[in-house]
Amino acid sequence: MGARILVIEDEVKFARFVEMELTYEGYSVTKAFEGRTGLELAEKEHFDLILLDVMLPGLNGIEVLRRIRRVSSVPIIMLTARDSVMDKVSGLDLGADDYITKPFAIEELLARIRAALRKQTRSPQSPVLSAGLLRLDPHSRQVRYGDTPIELTKREFDVLQYLLENKGIVVTREALLENVWGFDFAGETNAVDVYIRFLRSKIDEAFGIKLISTVRGVGYVIRDER
Ligand code: CA
Repeated sequence: MGARILVIEDEVKFARFVEMELTYEGYSVTKAFEGRTGLELAEKEHFDLILLDVMLPGLNGIEVLRRIRRVSSVPIIMLTARDSVMDKVSGLDLGADDYITKPFAIEELLARIRAALRKQTRSPQSPVLSAGLLRLDPHSRQVRYGDTPIELTKREFDVLQYLLENKGIVVTREALLENVWGFDFAGETNAVDVYIRFLRSKIDEAFGIKLISTVRGVGYVIRDER
């Protein structure tokens, strides 16, 4: 039985679409079409993760988030409207784990959900992430290729960790920026490219492998070596 996810979203068609996709991925989904119903469900039932729309009629998403956080530390991903920086700031201040801007690709939502669920189960002992001979230990913050240690800066490490956590999934520059740099760096996607270059020089070029692939116009992906 997959993780239980509560979707609080007033756009019924959109909520059903998300439910269908999540169900297909093996999650067990409960929907609420308004904030108050969602809050009641969150208070009385156990969920492994909550997807919470900000723009809800009646009790809005920020208020729902605030009230859920009084009683629970369940991972919460906010669904925000484009360019709504205030919602992101309030949401993260109030304890949301992540946010995703509408419209989004379902693959991105799935990756965020996996990351949030992993973060929840990762502490205190984090599993070692790997791709081929590359090993990244989030706990000791060490990276090795085979037996050879790789020296990375904190930012390089964080970028690599995020890519490995999403192994097999194309990660957009925006997603990397938001998750590694934080939302206040929105739009500065050049920074991402610079750090990808650093990583390629220290890993791909140093070991003669092709670890980080560019997906033109979309972003980057790490796949297991074939
Ligand atoms: Ca809405």
